[in-house]
Amino acid sequence: MLLRKALTNSHGGVLLPSFIRNDVLTPTTSAVAYNCLSKRYINLQEYQSKQLMEKNGLQIQKFRIVSDIDQVKNIIDDPTLKANEYVIKAQVLAGGRGKGYFKNSGFKGGVKLTKNKTEIESIVKAMLDDYLITAQTTKDGILVKKVMIAEAIDIKKELYLAILLDRASGGPIVVASPEGGMDIEKVAETNPTAVHKFPISISENSKDLERQLALRIAGEGLGLDGKLKEDAATEISHLYRMFLKLDALQIEINPLGITTQNQVICFDAKMNFDENAMFRHEWMKQIMEENSSEEDPRDRLARESNLNFVPMDGNIACLVNGAGLAMATMDIIHRYGGSPANFLDVGGSVNQAGVESAFKLIMTDKKVKAVLVNIFGGIVNCETIAKGLIAAKNQVTVPLVVRLEGTNAEQAINLINTVPDIISAKNLDDAAQKVVGFTKTT
Ligand code: ADP
Ligand code: MG
Repeated sequence: MLLRKALTNSHGGVLLPSFIRNDVLTPTTSAVAYNCLSKRYINLQEYQSKQLMEKNGLQIQKFRIVSDIDQVKNIIDDPTLKANEYVIKAQVLAGGRGKGYFKNSGFKGGVKLTKNKTEIESIVKAMLDDYLITAQTTKDGILVKKVMIAEAIDIKKELYLAILLDRASGGPIVVASPEGGMDIEKVAETNPTAVHKFPISISENSKDLERQLALRIAGEGLGLDGKLKEDAATEISHLYRMFLKLDALQIEINPLGITTQNQVICFDAKMNFDENAMFRHEWMKQIMEENSSEEDPRDRLARESNLNFVPMDGNIACLVNGAGLAMATMDIIHRYGGSPANFLDVGGSVNQAGVESAFKLIMTDKKVKAVLVNIFGGIVNCETIAKGLIAAKNQVTVPLVVRLEGTNAEQAINLINTVPDIISAKNLDDAAQKVVGFTKTT
């Protein structure tokens, strides 16, 4: 569970398809450390993914985006978006919207179908500026600032298709299932043989996915034959080419739908990209800017201060240097019966300003009843950290337990011990027991 959380951003936006994530990544702390530290993922909203897909030759349905209720009228009157039925979709960086609900209004469903044009406005109104809670978000949900209005198309069958980087095979892997749709997580659990994986050799298929392989994926992976198999193979090839061209880490189409008119269409898309490739993709910057206004303020503070931060549901805030140590810290809190409020890795070269930002970040969470600082001084000098802690400690209004180990730990602890409000711990066990103790008694 911790691993699952640590691999999502603080919005709950998933970095890998939720149900295959643990298969594809080895669930070790080093895998988490690798993913949390060495790169950032650029997550796209559904509409941004679809714009890219359209440019890259994939079949999508017509859509418009609104960010203001006043824009709905124009869309309803727009003759180029005439449909018998419409689908209205909240745009948030998380999946599971169809089965989600809104925090303030209690309105059910972040994806709604209607045949009644006049109803579009009331649905959009219910979604905009409310928080959508889904299985992939935190309990607070995500604020909806944009809503998609698209033509709905009758779907006969929902399939699942994804391409992502696979650690085990050392290259891209296509994941396909004839049983796509909103219950794909359940399918993967109860009927794993219905989820098929096709590793792709980057040496043999560096640019194009051979037609033969695309047809095999469409047949064996999606369970199609005849013209549908041919059409799906075309979508698979386009998707693969786009995956390579855009330096994607994951493209997930769920559902890939077969319509009653026997068309193969991508109805939903979740994508993320490798920020390290930003230098060759101007558009990534634009997308990041577009999304930054919708970014959770805590995410922004974390990003700007170079902190890896993932909020969680517990009440013990953690401030740790190193992702592996952060994972171990969360585990030991659990072991002593407590529950972490966050994953926070301040990195190996944290300074006083970094500690201050980290405390600021931690204390925005009203659930926090105690803070555990766990620093292993390697390159970082514990004394510097101790000074930082002392300078920033008045931001912390709950008990603060500190465990410092490594370079200059002794001097650092002596410094800490001069401050009555900071509780120093002998070792990690001692620290965890102390901090959990505070949450039990306060
Ligand atoms: P999420 O994965 O976040 O729940 P989806 O975009 O997959 O959101 O939408 C949920 C469900 O809504 C889909 O599985 C599909 O059944 C239905 N749906 C989505 N888009 C359309 C559409 N254009 N026409 C008809 N049904 C749709
Ligand atoms: Mg979906």
